[in-house]
Amino acid sequence: MADERWFSETLTPGVRLSFEARRVLRHERTDNQELALFENDVFGRVLLLDGVVQVTTADEFIYHEMMAHVPLLAHGEPRDVLIIGGGDCGLAEEVLKHSSIRRVLQVEIDPSVAELARTHFGEINAAAFADPRFELRIGDGAAFVRESDERFDVVLVDSTDPIGPGAVLFTREFYAGVRGRLNPGGILVTQNGIPFLQTREFADAFANLGATFRHVACYVISVPTYFGGHLALGWSSDDVAPLAVSTEALETRFAAAGIQTRYYSPRHHLAAFAAPRYIEQALESAVEQGRKAGLGDP
Ligand code: SAM
Repeated sequence: MADERWFSETLTPGVRLSFEARRVLRHERTDNQELALFENDVFGRVLLLDGVVQVTTADEFIYHEMMAHVPLLAHGEPRDVLIIGGGDCGLAEEVLKHSSIRRVLQVEIDPSVAELARTHFGEINAAAFADPRFELRIGDGAAFVRESDERFDVVLVDSTDPIGPGAVLFTREFYAGVRGRLNPGGILVTQNGIPFLQTREFADAFANLGATFRHVACYVISVPTYFGGHLALGWSSDDVAPLAVSTEALETRFAAAGIQTRYYSPRHHLAAFAAPRYIEQALESAVEQGRKAGLGDP
């Protein structure tokens, strides 16, 4: 994966995306995955897990703003939020910018990632760690949703790809567990990878979501370090259709929230659901396949 000067993303067979490391901060095998943290002149601090880019300080705002503000502003009055994964804790900071939030519980499996989030990603998460509404718990997100009886307004699955410890977070059983943790009006948003490259993974995950939730959609974002075209974020809810909220309502909520953003805007919020046709078709056929497997028990 690395000669300690160049680190390569090896997610797609036949392709390598390489970053020069000006300084290697960590490179080790944790109990859960291979972890590499280094500094790059273009992207700042870069975290790779199992040879896949997770976060960079230069472009994290795109992913974190769109994963947080789309469901939170669509919900309107979110109070309790569950984050599964999200080790760098940049997402928690974005969620906590909403004053309606009274609690963010984050369940992250890897203590090494959680520890380096504190020591090396302060510029994107210091406000979260200083916020009494934030609780970071070490554990498997799938076990948590299975065993907990707590309920949340919004659940955000800020996961690795469906390999290693993250694989369980794309299964029908997991999605059914999340469904049981949602309050009425609740919304689930998931990280669903790059449809152009991860065609099979995209189809499998959306079939599982389609088998579980009434409203299933995806919206797309463009993140420079997530190579291969648009990244898909999944939207699932039994009660809230993704386009049920108007631009005007979003503008009002966004202005009232007083949050500064660099990527998110209410107009772009709705536009992001107009995915390119190849993604829309893949989504429709996967959800249809899931529907045939039936809503309800996994
Ligand atoms: N934004 C990133 C992306 O899409 O590339 C995801 C970032 S975040 C660092 C992903 C986190 O999910 C990692 O810290 C990893 O340890 C965590 N994770 C993987 N499997 C998990 C599981 N079963 N339960 C909880 N956390 C998990």
